[in-house]
Amino acid sequence: MSINRTVGLEDRNGAPVGRDPREMTTEELGQLGHERISPLKALRLRCVDCCAGSAAEVRLCVSVTCPSWPFRMGRSPWRQPISDATRERLARSAFKIAATQSAPQKTAASVETQEGGATTVARTPVAAKSTTGMGSKSEGGHDH
Ligand code: SF4
Repeated sequence: MSINRTVGLEDRNGAPVGRDPREMTTEELGQLGHERISPLKALRLRCVDCCAGSAAEVRLCVSVTCPSWPFRMGRSPWRQPISDATRERLARSAFKIAATQSAPQKTAASVETQEGGATTVARTPVAAKSTTGMGSKSEGGHDH
């Protein structure tokens, strides 16, 4: 894809200046060759560009006061690493959520299928039956 640099520029007092990316569409940013990436990855790419494409030079960068320097390896040093216990707890939670979301809801039809081998069809869940033997008038039915 060819890059259209003019999309990223605007006129100010007769001279071209960079547009505010907050006011640009995703499509316009794409025309400049930008894609959706994390700020950390953008910093890393900036550093690689700064070092003429050499990742080895980024590692050796001596500009220790550069704002990008702590992030140049693609990780934030301010962020604590996740402990094994936390990682395990998060994995268990994700498993529980996945199991809950994939479990089929019991309907009258699925109960028939489990007990009698009938074909499952979509139905509304079975309403609780009255145990008093006195049908509900509010359901519009007639007790005979
Ligand atoms: S930390 Fe700064 S000077 Fe060093 S490679 Fe990155 S952008 Fe360039």
